[in-house]
Amino acid sequence: MSNSDTIFSKIINREIPADIVYEDDMVLAFKDISPQAPVHILLIPKKPIPKLDDAVPDDHALMGHLLLKAKQVAQEAGLENGYRVVINNGSDGGQTVDHLHIHILGGRQMQWPPG
Ligand code: AMP
Repeated sequence: MSNSDTIFSKIINREIPADIVYEDDMVLAFKDISPQAPVHILLIPKKPIPKLDDAVPDDHALMGHLLLKAKQVAQEAGLENGYRVVINNGSDGGQTVDHLHIHILGGRQMQWPPG
């Protein structure tokens, strides 16, 4: 499957539905279909970067924008007591969708270490 065919590209292109909570010209945020916490939102760049390893220096501004939007999305979701931000990278990292995404998890006490 090429990166442009991932399920997240289909969500960006409105080819499949998603519960979208934020969008601008660079990023999209939507609720995870299989939530692992009371709040579980995925934040993705619209540019189809397969994984964090594939980000390049030209993505500098986009990567900073993503992290600042993760904070905004978390605040707008009401996670005033804190939250967790996760990027799974590659197979050992547990990544299952080959389009870079940030998990925003909250609404319960997170544990450490993660599995
Ligand atoms: P990862 O394991 O880090 O690659 O995370 C992929 C995430 O995408 C998982 O948490 C899935 O539940 C989520 N996911 C897969 N398909 C969809 C979908 N159609 N809409 C929303 N979330 C999805």
